[in-house]
Amino acid sequence: MSVIDVKDLRKSYNGLAAVDGIDLTISQGEIFALLGPNGAGKTTTVEILEGFRSRDSGNVTVLGFDPQATGIDARRFRDRIGIVLQSTSDAGDLTVAETVHHFQSYYSNPRMAEEVIAAVGLTEKSNSLIRVLSGGQRRRLDVALGIVGNPELLFLDEPTTGFDPEARRAFWELVKDLRNTGTTILLTTHYLDEAEALADRVGVINRGKIVEIAAPSELGGRDTSMAYVRWVVDGVSYEERTNSPTAVIRRISADIKGEIPQLIVSRPSLEEIYLEMIGHAESTEILTKEVSGA
Ligand code: ATP
Repeated sequence: MSVIDVKDLRKSYNGLAAVDGIDLTISQGEIFALLGPNGAGKTTTVEILEGFRSRDSGNVTVLGFDPQATGIDARRFRDRIGIVLQSTSDAGDLTVAETVHHFQSYYSNPRMAEEVIAAVGLTEKSNSLIRVLSGGQRRRLDVALGIVGNPELLFLDEPTTGFDPEARRAFWELVKDLRNTGTTILLTTHYLDEAEALADRVGVINRGKIVEIAAPSELGGRDTSMAYVRWVVDGVSYEERTNSPTAVIRRISADIKGEIPQLIVSRPSLEEIYLEMIGHAESTEILTKEVSGA
């Protein structure tokens, strides 16, 4: 069952196509990460899905609603989604607990405020004013406000910016727990390790177009791409790129007659594949412009 269904979505600002014909289907219970460089069109796409921006054209269905709906439909739609925006709103003179309780009242089927505060690791700060929280703690509060309504669909826009490594890991566990209870999650992130740790599928977007949608392990043919075999003999580092790493290892082992020192076999990281895709898309664009004389 699809929770998000997008067909040929388009949005321009003053002639600039920020979103240029996007198709996207996201299933219930899926964590989908939207990746792309600055200005690629991620926020525009996500805000159209959230109902915060209008679209120029295309069909969009989110939880069975058109996010541009107004009146009672808009309220029913908002009741079922959770949003963690990039920038935080300011309510500096309220405590963490007061803020979460306040947001709770917007929803018909909220989660317990204390449970949500604990889930984001802010129990000790429950009675602190928001303005004394650190940047990372503020961000955790944003996440708490995004999930307090017990959403069926959660939008996370660069959720872990400013988190320390431990808080990021804890947040990832929280997101996985939400997914395990059936929540669908649309995530935008610039952290490739975050996409790899969390996403069932990633969509790479560049200049308003989807470049590829795949599981993180399969993006850009990553699972079938050449492996690197690296090893060291007598202080000299060696590297070989191969389609058959097992054969290479057998050969080296036979040469060395035993254990291969500092042996590493690796495939390209998600970041390497992603940068290659984005770079390739950029150079194709330049080439197209040169050919067409633009
Ligand atoms: P980032 O990773 O930097 O957040 P993004 O992928 O979310 O980037 P968008 O914010 O969707 O990108 O922007 C896509 C393009 O549309 C950019 O070129 C941006 O300058 C432009 N844009 C976005 N919002 C507006 C607006 N309100 N008015 C005019 N142009 C806009």
